[in-house]
Amino acid sequence: MTARLIGHGAAGLPDHVDVLVIGLGITGTGVALDTTTRGLTTLAVDAHDLAYGTSRWSSKLVHGGLRYLANGQIGVAHESAFERGILMEVTAPHLTHAMPMLVPLMSSVSPVAGGLTRAGLVAGDLLRRSARTSRETLPGPRRVSATETLRIAPGLRPEGLRGGLLSWDGQLEDDARLVANVARTAAAYGAHVRTRARVMTATGTDVELRDELTGETRTITAKAVINATGVWAGELVDEITLRPSRGTHLVLRSGTFPDLRATVAAPVPGSTSRFVLVMPQPDKTIYVGLTDEPVEGEIPDVPTPSEAEIGFLLDVVSAAFTRSLRRSDVVGAFAGLRPLIDAGDGSTADISRKHAVLTSRTGVITIVGGKLTTYRRMAQDAVDCAVATAGLDAGPCVTATRPLLGAAPRDQLARLEHPERLVRRFGTDAALVLDNARAVSGLGDDELLAPVSDDIPVTLAELIFGVTHEGAVDVDDLLDRRTRIGLVAADREVALPLARRALDLTRRVAH
Ligand SMILES: Cc1cc2nc3c(=O)[nH]c(=O)nc-3n(C[C@H](O)[C@H](O)[C@H](O)COP(=O)(O)OP(=O)(O)OC[C@H]3O[C@@H](n4cnc5c(N)ncnc54)[C@H](O)[C@@H]3O)c2cc1C
Repeated sequence: MTARLIGHGAAGLPDHVDVLVIGLGITGTGVALDTTTRGLTTLAVDAHDLAYGTSRWSSKLVHGGLRYLANGQIGVAHESAFERGILMEVTAPHLTHAMPMLVPLMSSVSPVAGGLTRAGLVAGDLLRRSARTSRETLPGPRRVSATETLRIAPGLRPEGLRGGLLSWDGQLEDDARLVANVARTAAAYGAHVRTRARVMTATGTDVELRDELTGETRTITAKAVINATGVWAGELVDEITLRPSRGTHLVLRSGTFPDLRATVAAPVPGSTSRFVLVMPQPDKTIYVGLTDEPVEGEIPDVPTPSEAEIGFLLDVVSAAFTRSLRRSDVVGAFAGLRPLIDAGDGSTADISRKHAVLTSRTGVITIVGGKLTTYRRMAQDAVDCAVATAGLDAGPCVTATRPLLGAAPRDQLARLEHPERLVRRFGTDAALVLDNARAVSGLGDDELLAPVSDDIPVTLAELIFGVTHEGAVDVDDLLDRRTRIGLVAADREVALPLARRALDLTRRVAH
């Protein structure tokens, strides 16, 4: 199949494809990569942009499944650990890294609770081994002294601190970047990937597609239609009713807790099993999360955190650290929606752990729930269902062994001599990002690689690549999804002129 670039709108698309995928979050892009690499002609569309929905509002963790083990869900836990290993060692080592996680043994954590947590971490390490993920990728857990606990997290309250439990899980460089990378890989294998193309109605064999740039509509037929619209799945398939629950994170500057070397699990006072995570990010910020609030009424395009959630997170963190956080420490806040499926009898089933593949009366296959970590397996299950239901002539699933564009073994990535930030976000494609920016702009590396500011490490080179290779159409795509500057409103203002410049430079080339 011919390699393509990510496009927008509905012009120039074929009238018929083997598989039409609705939604370009991690699930839909994962499905598009799966179908294309099985030799099926594929069109994957999003009403807005890549990673417009929940996929950009996650905690950015590559979960090993420990929490599912605690609930006795051994199959789900193993699947999570297995997929974590594939992401970290085969498909996306460039976008993932080992994240140290510290549970401080404070006076609010009883010795019994501490012992149970330690046993859980040992079980988590067994999961890692059963998934054949190496110790080099994820070191084993260990108990650390109070002195070492304070060295790893200097801001913690020292009173009553008995030490800490240090373990390792996976962390994504950026969730939306993973989506953009999967989408670009699917397009490189030949998928038609289009943003600004909204599906108005869908059956198992056709969709009415509206070009959001021109307002024109057209019908496209397919042998199979896969609905990967996340919490919006019920808007296209009326048999599905989702009742979402909101999870909120705060964004702090890294200077709020200087020298924080690990994610800290701050215990929720009064609970033995709930924690709020304080997670240092690679871009000079710290995320604090998570809440769990039921959402009533219409599903918003962009969910908004409530002041009550923000207050709760600030209180829990302030109880664990010597610095008492204020509202003014919060430089950004974001929320995502977990899909809960309405069981029809007034109760809901949580599919945020285990995904579901559902076939509607008209034959639309919906894939919903799950996690970023397990997107590959979710895509495989949805496509297996499509192949069986529609009798598609498809090859076997190969995504477990096909690295994404830019992926390479960690030792090879470490030896690359390109700018460190570009390697972290594009892997071996860092050279392509820079060469492309030079060719498009005619500018020197000083200008192309200069960070926006001390607090904003984003460069013009990556913004230009966002337009030329990742389908970005406007400043929102660049600031809110190809990069994550938009998570901090004040930074967004500062970076706006550079995003406009990237668009101007690329337009000049296009005309
Ligand atoms: C708060 C929170 C934290 C999380 N943290 C983690 C984590 O740390 N690690 C982890 O592994 N998982 C995590 N998850 C889970 C993970 O984020 C989700 O499972 C995943 O992002 C869902 O992706 P999706 O592609 O199914 O949906 P989405 O990302 O929501 O994508 C759906 C897409 O469909 C598009 N769409 C909707 N309607 C239409 C239409 N009619 N036509 C065309 N397009 C349409 C939307 O624009 C959107 O882009 C978290 C979830 C939440 C809520």
